[in-house]
Amino acid sequence: RLVSREYKPADTVVKVNGIPFGGENFQIVAGPCAVENEEQVMIIAKAVKEAGAVLLRGGAYKPRTSPYSFQGLEEEGLKLLAKAREKTGLPVVTEVLDVRDLEVVAYYADMIQIGARNMQNFPLLKEVARLEKPVLLKRGLSATIEEWLLAAEYIMQGGNPRIILCERGIRTFETFTRNTLDLSAVPAIKTLSHLPIIVDPSHGCGKWFLVPPLAKAACAVGAHGLMVEVHHQPSCALSDGEQSLTPGKFHKLMQEINKIKQCL
Ligand code: PEP
Ligand code: MN
Repeated sequence: RLVSREYKPADTVVKVNGIPFGGENFQIVAGPCAVENEEQVMIIAKAVKEAGAVLLRGGAYKPRTSPYSFQGLEEEGLKLLAKAREKTGLPVVTEVLDVRDLEVVAYYADMIQIGARNMQNFPLLKEVARLEKPVLLKRGLSATIEEWLLAAEYIMQGGNPRIILCERGIRTFETFTRNTLDLSAVPAIKTLSHLPIIVDPSHGCGKWFLVPPLAKAACAVGAHGLMVEVHHQPSCALSDGEQSLTPGKFHKLMQEINKIKQCL
């Protein structure tokens, strides 16, 4: 298997617009759940950059549970992300839901996100495999580590070795948290594979006050970085406000993370 440690013993470092993920690096990806409007994305992009994020996240095509929820600004959202990149210098990662949108998403994005719901969308995996862009592959809602690595194998076998894995919690019997963040996946993946793995504590728990402790634990357990949802007005957010950190709370978390890094 191409994704296995046996095949390639050394850590893979995936560069996203020159920013290295994997190996000894610990990188922060942050931004809103969804791109809502120009003012929102600019405020949040500036704030996360100042706090230490190196990559901006933001959904333009949103995989919402309800068809009545905000579905994203689509290409308009991609344009706003590109504008935020111009203003801040932060490269952007954004999700593609459908093969039909891949061309336009790849045109604007520096890294393509395959969300949890599409981890086993094999036609989509085969298409991102044909791109030159790095791919952020999130763990499926109920995917085993084995299934997740096989999804990565599709992308690598198809010709794209630039894959970053993202643990984002799995379905369990627990309902207090949105998902159960599987931090054991981090050292497990690092044993089984050479690919970088980052952790998304926001979708992992669904509650903003659980995000900082889980983010710190992810750092301590050896993740190569974090993906955190940030919103300047969480109570007005069009999606995932309950799990979004304010810029102030995000800034404080970044300072705490820096202290943890010094102990490792
Ligand atoms: C996201 O990161 O925007 C997202 C929808 O997350 P997930 O696919 O992990 O649910
Ligand atoms: Mn979200």
